[in-house]
Amino acid sequence: MHVIYGGTFDPIHHGHLRLALEVCDALAVPRIHLVPCHIPPHRGDTGAGSQQRLALIRQAIAGEGALQVDDRELGRAGASYTADTLRQLRGELGPDEPLVMVVGTDAFASFDRWREWQSIPELAHIVVVQRPGADLPEGSEADNLVRQRRAGCAQALNQQPCGLVLELDPPLLDISATGIRQRIADGRSPRYLMPDDVWRTIQTNGLYGACTSARV
Ligand code: ATP
Repeated sequence: MHVIYGGTFDPIHHGHLRLALEVCDALAVPRIHLVPCHIPPHRGDTGAGSQQRLALIRQAIAGEGALQVDDRELGRAGASYTADTLRQLRGELGPDEPLVMVVGTDAFASFDRWREWQSIPELAHIVVVQRPGADLPEGSEADNLVRQRRAGCAQALNQQPCGLVLELDPPLLDISATGIRQRIADGRSPRYLMPDDVWRTIQTNGLYGACTSARV
């Protein structure tokens, strides 16, 4: 089973990292691939460039074998569409290998605005992680998809290559990249919300408006 977890990671934080490990446990897989997007289609400019966000991810996961980074979206020009990434992976994995994409309910709520969203269940399983305060609107396309394709248990994802939706509700850290960017812009420390190394690099490079003189 090949599991990917996409996001802007602007910047990566402990909420992302904990979620990734929780998913590995829940699916009983040895690793998960973090897929940073190059240009997010549904939001404005990112706070840091894609190469900078990728470098922070590499730093955050160094030495943790369960967490890998897949930088394929940075190699494509233009907006990063999940359907394109999944189609490319499906080509590499062949038709039979289970492919899983992980997404939080906040991002999944607007699933029907994703490009080619209807083709996504034909390419992969979807693991939807409940984020506190971000329920899927009842009757939305995302909510309908969960109801129609619900997997009874994690093991079911091994029985077919794609097409199921598994809901997970693991313990999550209430951290958002938006909150971190705001904190840094306000001159407050985001320490302990992200790995120290990542925060140090942000300061050294003055990312997100961080002051280069103050240090952890
Ligand atoms: P932003 O605040 O900039 O929107 P974010 O912190 O929500 O960023 P993203 O990179 O947009 O992070 O999210 C990537 C994926 O990670 C999404 O599926 C999102 O639901 C999930 N995610 C983000 N933060 C957390 C968290 N604290 N716990 C679990 N999942 C999270």
